[in-house]
Amino acid sequence: MKTWKQRGLRWLAGTVVVLGALATGISAMDSPLPVPGAGTSSPTNLPSERPTAHPPQGLAFSVIPTSQSKGAFEALLVGGGSWLRYRHPAHVAVLVRHPQGNLLFDTGLGRQVAAQFAVNGFMDRQFFGYEHVNPAVDQLAQAGWTPDRIKLIVPSHMHWDHISALPDFPDAQVWASTTEREHARQGHAPAFLASQFEGVRHWHDLQFAPTPYMGYAQSLDLFGDGAVVLVPLSGHTAGQVGMFLNLPSGQRYFFTGDTTWTMEGLQWPADRSWALRQLVHVDHDVPANQAAIVRVHQLMQRFPDLKVVPAHDENVLKTLPHFPAFQG
Ligand SMILES: [Zn+2]
Repeated sequence: MKTWKQRGLRWLAGTVVVLGALATGISAMDSPLPVPGAGTSSPTNLPSERPTAHPPQGLAFSVIPTSQSKGAFEALLVGGGSWLRYRHPAHVAVLVRHPQGNLLFDTGLGRQVAAQFAVNGFMDRQFFGYEHVNPAVDQLAQAGWTPDRIKLIVPSHMHWDHISALPDFPDAQVWASTTEREHARQGHAPAFLASQFEGVRHWHDLQFAPTPYMGYAQSLDLFGDGAVVLVPLSGHTAGQVGMFLNLPSGQRYFFTGDTTWTMEGLQWPADRSWALRQLVHVDHDVPANQAAIVRVHQLMQRFPDLKVVPAHDENVLKTLPHFPAFQG
């Protein structure tokens, strides 16, 4: 007769096998995105050289971590990710200190996030749960920065986890395209939370110029010196934007918003996992976002020294300077 211990071990082993098979089966639905011209030395429409920039002395940036997601298995966040790695996507603001005006690219979670988030139903509150909130406005205040020192806010897009702190900076100009604002206005929880943006006093209509930049057909040189250049990255939302940052040191960054949640998504390249995409409607236009992923992947191949930063990748973000430290 078998002991309880032996039965328990067999039950445990059986459960592990079943869960493993289930995870393997789910992950089998994921495959890397096809890359046109992969293996050749010249992907289409990419510049052969980096555009010139004349960043002013004093230009520098800093990451302000404002919160983190309660987390998920990496295999859900990116197709081909591991079921053994648990990730905690970060919610950050990126502070760019420019002599013509300081700007935030995204705001992370703000002082009013609890009230904003409360409109979500039970399941969404679990799924999008966050922890360790430390609003950017409070961290700035501790370092002697009053909120009015932030002149511009450029949200990569208007999802709740990127613009929660707009009410904390009432004097700032908020730059967003009509397309993105309309998308947000017609949207609803959990993706868009009207309480975050309906009180904005100073909207600025973000419009791109027909000036090609790093393979993108349009761009917007924010200060006219090539230091901060926005490009359209629509797909995840109707009007998502990416930000190139060219520092005085020569170091170049590309902040890619939520095109992917992880660096792995851009490296492989891969979309969010198939399983997750069955559970939640994440992307406004899936084919457009997948094309955006492949384009960033190609840029990384062409310019290996370009530092690419997906908005939530905690592993990439922890390598960047954290407020009050800056890098110029
Ligand atoms: Zn996000």
